[in-house]
Amino acid sequence: MGETQSALSVACEQLRIAAEKLKLDPGIHEMLKHPRRSLIVSINVKMDNGNVCTFSGCRVQHNDARGPFKGGIRYHPNVSLDEVTALAMWMTWKCAVVDIPYGGAKGGVCCNPKEMSKAELERLTRRYTTLIFDIIGPYRDVPAPDVYTDAQTMAWIMDTYSQLKGYSVPECVTGKPISVGGSEGRAEATSLGVVVCAREAAKNLGLKLKGATVAVQGYGNVGWNAAKIAYDMGCKIVAVSDSTGGIYCEKGLNPYKIYQHKSKTGSVTNYEKCKNITNEELLETKCDILIPAALENQITKKNANKIKAKIVAEGANGPTTPEADKALHEKGILLVPDILANSGGVTASYYEWVQNLTREHWTVEEVNRKLEDKMVKAFNDVHKLAKKEKSDMRTAALMLGVGRVAEAIKTLGLWP
Ligand code: NAD
Repeated sequence: MGETQSALSVACEQLRIAAEKLKLDPGIHEMLKHPRRSLIVSINVKMDNGNVCTFSGCRVQHNDARGPFKGGIRYHPNVSLDEVTALAMWMTWKCAVVDIPYGGAKGGVCCNPKEMSKAELERLTRRYTTLIFDIIGPYRDVPAPDVYTDAQTMAWIMDTYSQLKGYSVPECVTGKPISVGGSEGRAEATSLGVVVCAREAAKNLGLKLKGATVAVQGYGNVGWNAAKIAYDMGCKIVAVSDSTGGIYCEKGLNPYKIYQHKSKTGSVTNYEKCKNITNEELLETKCDILIPAALENQITKKNANKIKAKIVAEGANGPTTPEADKALHEKGILLVPDILANSGGVTASYYEWVQNLTREHWTVEEVNRKLEDKMVKAFNDVHKLAKKEKSDMRTAALMLGVGRVAEAIKTLGLWP
C-alpha cells in the first residue's frame, strides 16, 4: 500500500525501541539484530507442461535461546530474504511473550501459488523440504503454515521428512491435518487468540463485545476464522476484504455466507446488498474493532490518522509501521500488537507438538481452554507492563518478549 517501509527495517526499529527501554546490553542488542542462520535454496520443479522452473526459497532461524526454532512457511510472489528475516525475528518475540519454549524462525518461497496446480505445489513443497532437511527437525526447527500454505502443505512436509528419516515423524511440523497428527482447534487457534485479545481490550475500554462492529482485512485462514468467531460471540461484522477488494454492509454481514460466496467466485466482492470498497477504505471503516489479517505495511503514517476503530487487533504480522503506531497511540486507539494478538497460532502449534511427542490427542475443549488461559494471561502481562511503563501495548509486548530472550541468552552464556 502506498508508502512501503521494509518489514526488516520495521522489525529492527521495534527492537531498537525495546532495547532502549530495557537498557539492553549493546552486545545482546547487536546479536538480536541478526538471525542465527539463513539458508537460501533454489528449488527446481518440473511443471505440469514438462518445463523445469527454478524458485527461490529460504529458511531463516533467528534465535533459539528459549527452545527450538519455530515459524511458518510463506508462499508468495513478493517473498524476500528481508521479509522472512523480519518475520523470523517477530516469531522469537512472540514465543517469548506468550511464554512457550520456542525460538523464532520463518521460511518462504517466492512463487505464485494461485497460478500453480496442486501437483506442482506438492513437488515444490517436497523439494523445498529436502533442501532445508538438514536444519529442521522436531528439536531443531519446527515449520508451520503461513500465507498461502495450509494443512495439506504441512502433510507433504511431514511425509517428505519422514521418508528421508525412514520412520514417521509427525512432530517435525505443526498445522497438519488431524488425520496425520494435527491438533484439534489448530485451524482456528490464531483467530480465536485474536478475538480473545480484542475481547480483553474491549473490557478495558468498557466496550461490550456483543454488538461491537468489526472490520476484517484478509479473508484467508486468519481473517475468515476471526470474522466467524467474532460473529459467533455476538459482534456485527460490517466489512471484510481479500486481495481482490472488500465489501461493506452497515447492517452486518454473515461471515459463513461470505465464505461460501468466496469459495464459489474466488472473491468476497460483489456480494448481495453490500457496497464494494477498496482495501484502503476497509482500513478506514467506522467500526469498534479493526482486524488486519492480510500482509505487512497496511497501516502507515499515510492512513493512520484516518483509522476510526477504537481497537486494532493485529491478526497479520507487521501490518502497522512504527510511525503509525505512534499516531494511533496519540489518537487513543488501543492496538493489540501482532506478537501478542496472533500468538494463538504458535501456542496451538506448541500444543500439537506436545501431543505428537507424547502420542496423545486432546479434545478441542481442552486445547481451547488452555489456549484461552494462555492468551488472557499474556494480554494481562502486557497490559500491566504498558500501564507501568506508560507505553503503548506494542512497546510493552516487545519489552516483555525481548527481555525474556535476553535473559535466556545471558543465562546460557556464550560457547565457545
Ligand atoms: P492466508 O493465505 O490463509 O490468507 C491471506 C489472505 O490475505 C487472503 O484472503 C488474501 O486474499 C488476502 N490478501 C493478500 N494480499 C492482500 C492485500 N494486498 N490486501 C488485502 N488482502 C490481501 O494467510 P493467513 O494464514 O490467514 O495469514 C494472514 C496473516 O496472518 C499473515 O500476516 C500471517 O503471517 C499472519 N499469521 C498467520 C498465522 C496462521 O496460523 N496462519 C499465525 C500468525 C500470524
